[in-house]
Amino acid sequence: MSAPDPLAPFPGDAGPVLALDIGGTKLAAAVITPDGAASGLVTAPTPHTGDWRAATGRLFALGREALRRAAPELAGEAGEGWAVREPGGRKTAGDPGGSASWAVREPGGRKTAGDPGVGAGWVVREPDPGVGAGRAVRGAGLGGIRAVGLACGGPLDAASGTVMSPPHLPGWTRVPIGPLAAEAFGVPFALENDATAAAVAEYRFGAGRGTGTMLYLTVSTGIGGGAIVGGRLHRGAAGNGGEFGHIIVRRGGRLCACGRRGCVEAYASGSAIAQRAAEACGRAMTAADVTAAVAAGDPAAAAVWAETADLLGAAVADLVNVFEPDLVVLGGGVTRCGDMLLGPVREVVAREAMPPAARAARVEPAALGDRVGVIGAGVVALALPLEDSPATGTTGSERAMAHWMESHLDEHVAVASALGALTAEIRAAGELVCRRLAGGGTVYTLGNGGSAADAQHLTGELVGHFKRHRRPLPAVTLSADPSVLTCVANDYAYADVFARQIEALARPQDVVVAFTTSGRSPNVTSALAAGRARGALTLLFAGGDGGPATVHADRVLLVPSKSSQRIQEMHTLMLHMISEMVDAWAAGEEPAP
Ligand SMILES: [Zn+2]
Repeated sequence: MSAPDPLAPFPGDAGPVLALDIGGTKLAAAVITPDGAASGLVTAPTPHTGDWRAATGRLFALGREALRRAAPELAGEAGEGWAVREPGGRKTAGDPGGSASWAVREPGGRKTAGDPGVGAGWVVREPDPGVGAGRAVRGAGLGGIRAVGLACGGPLDAASGTVMSPPHLPGWTRVPIGPLAAEAFGVPFALENDATAAAVAEYRFGAGRGTGTMLYLTVSTGIGGGAIVGGRLHRGAAGNGGEFGHIIVRRGGRLCACGRRGCVEAYASGSAIAQRAAEACGRAMTAADVTAAVAAGDPAAAAVWAETADLLGAAVADLVNVFEPDLVVLGGGVTRCGDMLLGPVREVVAREAMPPAARAARVEPAALGDRVGVIGAGVVALALPLEDSPATGTTGSERAMAHWMESHLDEHVAVASALGALTAEIRAAGELVCRRLAGGGTVYTLGNGGSAADAQHLTGELVGHFKRHRRPLPAVTLSADPSVLTCVANDYAYADVFARQIEALARPQDVVVAFTTSGRSPNVTSALAAGRARGALTLLFAGGDGGPATVHADRVLLVPSKSSQRIQEMHTLMLHMISEMVDAWAAGEEPAP
């Protein structure tokens, strides 16, 4: 009858994982071994400063603390070797700056980490980037984990590791917690809805062992759920299935946090119990206060409790009818009162569920207690495939890579959209360039590094052409003559390399076009000052606030971004627009503006 899967096998030698449980009130971290044991468990209140970076920083610090505490228990798996930096070596946590690639050689010289799919869990200690070598350890301190598992309330996108905007974590909007954790700990990640992860943990290591269809309800601040049906975790079409808290038990009833009315969460969650009891008893109470008052014989509290258990029982009876499970597991803080809740729920199920289903289903408390959340986070990480699998293409490192690329594309698109506010200025700059060229002027372009390439790019479009056939136009790039650059830099100063050329060449009818991301390079600022002193038109392509270079620029095209990459990408876009305007004018189709 039983069909154990969730979530597929993990061999005993797979190595432990780090588990991070992100709750609305509490963060928890522990190291979880393949037998489901939690080591080094640490918890802390969830910071609610509105800044998710502060909360994730606290979470990762907690993770490191759990690794440190768990180290003695995991010492049996410790190993030691030498780390060498080499091309193609696997990036590991503990790497200074996080950029170099390291490979690990054990004392016998056998290479481990750095081979694809081998050697996970090694960490470089005491690295010396200058020498490119350091000590490598496994199974102690930061080492020894092969993945990091995260459990968090939904909605979330498990595949990309993104927490969307869960109601219990205000300010967490589209937080890439999975890739961030993968980067922080140097291992692949797995992210799962917290109630789903808890369901998997109970199924695998708790009350659900030996069952095939098991439902889990967590009754705490809210009510969440997870379902294992016929040995398969049920995720649903959009990945957020199992929202048992929003089964409607009273049409048009109390307002739920989800915005609808009459959900079981609006009656039986810890916060709903507290609120209803406060209304009935006329004083502020927690859910634990309510159970104490019921035990003490308070009739108002008893009435609230009876309704709570009855409505939770009704929801469970519906679930039993729908799934016909072997077992319904109730976990979460509210279930700590034990039979006071489970007794009435069992009675409602026995009385109201369809008889065959009611007979088949047991209703039991969670066996893993308060550790169910963090063990659940660990189980989803333990269930990750041991080696990167090109067939599935969904390993943590690949998802981190995909997310990193998407974030670049998103930012590029956002900055390009913001450029819409600059169209009038781009057009005005293009018209001025056309007018100067029509009056016999020359365009002098300049910049440092990537901006030097942009300067040459514009010159190429002018001397050659952009898209249309037309006469060549005079343009010179001042950063493209190595002899002049090295002479001036060597004999005078690097700050003079462009200004001296401007003084030698520029006339009042000319244009000086400077490309810079920050506007803070002294040689760019001095070039614009020299151009203006010669009476030339000065045009500045920059970003951010434009820096001191803006002081000497007649026209400024400022990309609204602080990222050098995005600024340079937009510079290319803008120089193409201006090139097209010049093309149109020079091809004779439009009079000089
Ligand atoms: Zn609801």
